[in-house]
Amino acid sequence: MDLRLTEIFYSLQGEARTVGRPTVFVRLTGCPQRCVWCDTEYAFSGGEKWPLEAILDQVAGYQAHYVTVTGGEPLAQPNCLGLLTALCDQGYEVSLETGGAMDIAEVDPRVSVVMDLKAPGSGEQHNNRLENIPLLRPHHQVKFVLADRKDYDWARFMLDQHQLHQRVGDVLFSPVQGQLAPGELADWIVADRLPVRFQLQLHKLLWNDARGR
Ligand code: SF4
Repeated sequence: MDLRLTEIFYSLQGEARTVGRPTVFVRLTGCPQRCVWCDTEYAFSGGEKWPLEAILDQVAGYQAHYVTVTGGEPLAQPNCLGLLTALCDQGYEVSLETGGAMDIAEVDPRVSVVMDLKAPGSGEQHNNRLENIPLLRPHHQVKFVLADRKDYDWARFMLDQHQLHQRVGDVLFSPVQGQLAPGELADWIVADRLPVRFQLQLHKLLWNDARGR
C-alpha cells in the first residue's frame, strides 16, 4: 500500500486540542478544494510515493506519542484510511485534519478527527459535506477559519443550527491570518458568550509559517 507524501516532520502541534504537544506530522499530497486563503498550496501536487511500512518506520524514528495526518486533503487518497488504522494499531494518539468535503464515515473510530467547515470567505462553502455532521463524536473537533464578520455570523449560525458544541469536544474559531484581527474575533466570541475555543496557529506565531515546522 502506497501513499503520496509531501513531507513528514516533527514539531509542536500548532492548533486544536493538543496544541503545543510534540507531534509527528504526515502531510499527504493533493486536495480537491481551493480555499482562497490556503496556506499549504505546496501540498496540492508533487510529493513522492511512500510504502506504508516506510512511513511507519519514519514516524517511529521520532519516538513521539502524537501523530497528525494532514494535507492537502488526506482523505482524497483512499489509502489514508489504512494509514490511520495502522498508526492507531501502533499505539499512537492520532488526529486527522480534514477540510470537510470528504466522507469521514470510514475513518478509524480511534482517530480524533479535526474537521473544517468552510465559511463563505473561503470560496469552498458549497463543498461542505453536511452528511458528516451526524458522524461527529465527542473526541472529534470542528474548526472554522474566519475571514470577516460575515464568516463569523455564518459560523455562529452553523454552531447553533447543528448544536456542534454538544456533538464534539471542541469547536475551534480561528481568524484568517492577515485578514481578520485576532482581537476582533476574540471580542465577538466574548460578547456573544459562544461555547467555542478561540485559537491562533502556534506554529505561525513561533516560526512565521516556515514549511516543515
Ligand atoms: S482544504 Fe485545506 S489544503 Fe485544501 S485548499 Fe482548503 S485549506 Fe488548502
